[in-house]
Amino acid sequence: MNTFLQYNPTKLYFGEGQVEQISAEIAESSKVLIVYGGGSIKRNGVYDDVMNQLKSVNAEVFELSGVEPNPRLTTVRKGVDICKQEGVDFLLAVGGGSVIDCTKAIAAGAKYDGDAWDLITQKAPIEDALPLGTVLTLAATGSEMNAVSVITNWETNDKLGWGSPHVYPTFSILDPENTFSVPENQTVYGIVDSMSHALEHYFHRTENTPMIDGFIESLLRTAIQTGPKLVEDLQSYEHRETMMYISTTAFNGTLQNGTDGGDWATHRIEHAISAIYDIPHGGGLAILFPNWLEHVLEDDPSRVKQLAVNVLGVDPEGKSDVEVAREGAQALRNFWNSIGAPSRLADYDIDDRDFDSMVEKTFIKPGVGTYKELNHDDVRDILKRSL
Ligand code: NAP
Ligand code: FE
Repeated sequence: MNTFLQYNPTKLYFGEGQVEQISAEIAESSKVLIVYGGGSIKRNGVYDDVMNQLKSVNAEVFELSGVEPNPRLTTVRKGVDICKQEGVDFLLAVGGGSVIDCTKAIAAGAKYDGDAWDLITQKAPIEDALPLGTVLTLAATGSEMNAVSVITNWETNDKLGWGSPHVYPTFSILDPENTFSVPENQTVYGIVDSMSHALEHYFHRTENTPMIDGFIESLLRTAIQTGPKLVEDLQSYEHRETMMYISTTAFNGTLQNGTDGGDWATHRIEHAISAIYDIPHGGGLAILFPNWLEHVLEDDPSRVKQLAVNVLGVDPEGKSDVEVAREGAQALRNFWNSIGAPSRLADYDIDDRDFDSMVEKTFIKPGVGTYKELNHDDVRDILKRSL
């Protein structure tokens, strides 16, 4: 194992009725900006629950609605303007990963004199941020308990991940009931994204990590057991709560304890695709990850084989390592397909015409992949396999 620091200051309130904790967490008479998306929280009652809590602490409430899936810089700028004009003290994100990511960027942008894009591109350091809390409504990204955010700039066609310890949520409220209304397709994308975060962590190069490797394998097996049952019964509290805990744990720092942090090339390639085609993040990952596995197993099948046997139920008896690993990659593709995720870029009408640009955008920051550091040809190969 490597030396490591485990630090995560987000207070997690998990379970039924926990929205009540808002009134304990937000100071009396604060100026609060609530940030939300296209209206799902108004249809499922979460908006009313949150407003009642804010009323009970006499908060002065401002609203920013309309945060897009794959949140845009233009919306971040709107939020920053409200914070600066109104002297907002606290940000409350009510939604999925997109709403939370947008809120993180607003929080940092509100404490910076220039344009928020400078912070996201690391042109300027993030030295401070407004405090933020979240009420999660979609189990997928882990953004509710990490310091990461992903923002798209459609002026430059860039989708960039960034992070800062200043944007950890101070608290997050995870009530599985708030995810009952998530439609089937978004539920599936959430399962894929959570599993992809676990997989990215799994592909590290650090020796002697049996505890973390076993933990990740267990998380993935649980997702494979629970995912199909949840898709069959979207109102199941039991399965919603299992998936919610999986998605948060898959990307809150726990899975990188003692390792080099994992690979993350698949996420980089997915961001490059979504910077050009506005596709759901989980859909892009479902297409790319099995192809990334097939690409890397050609140099070294050992880790993919371990995944195949310990997680994906492949019987290694009488087969070469490469055969077992290939079966594993196919089993992952089949599993995601079976719950309704796409497996080809063609499913989103994407062909090879923008591959040059996708490859270039994957390398917008140097160093793609740690388990296998990819070059331009490698990324092109993974894209080709994904057609
Ligand atoms: P999302 O983009 O936040 O939401 C997708 C859709 O689900 C929206 O249309 C939203 O509708 C709807 N929705 C959310 N909650 C709902 C509910 N309870 N009932 C009904 N509909 C609901 O999805 P996401 O997968 O959570 O976030 C994706 C974004 O996060 C991508 O930009 C991705 O790159 C990024 N990401 C971030 C991290 C991180 O660590 N920060 C990690 C991975 C990915 P409304 O708009 O109407 O609410
Ligand atoms: Fe992700």
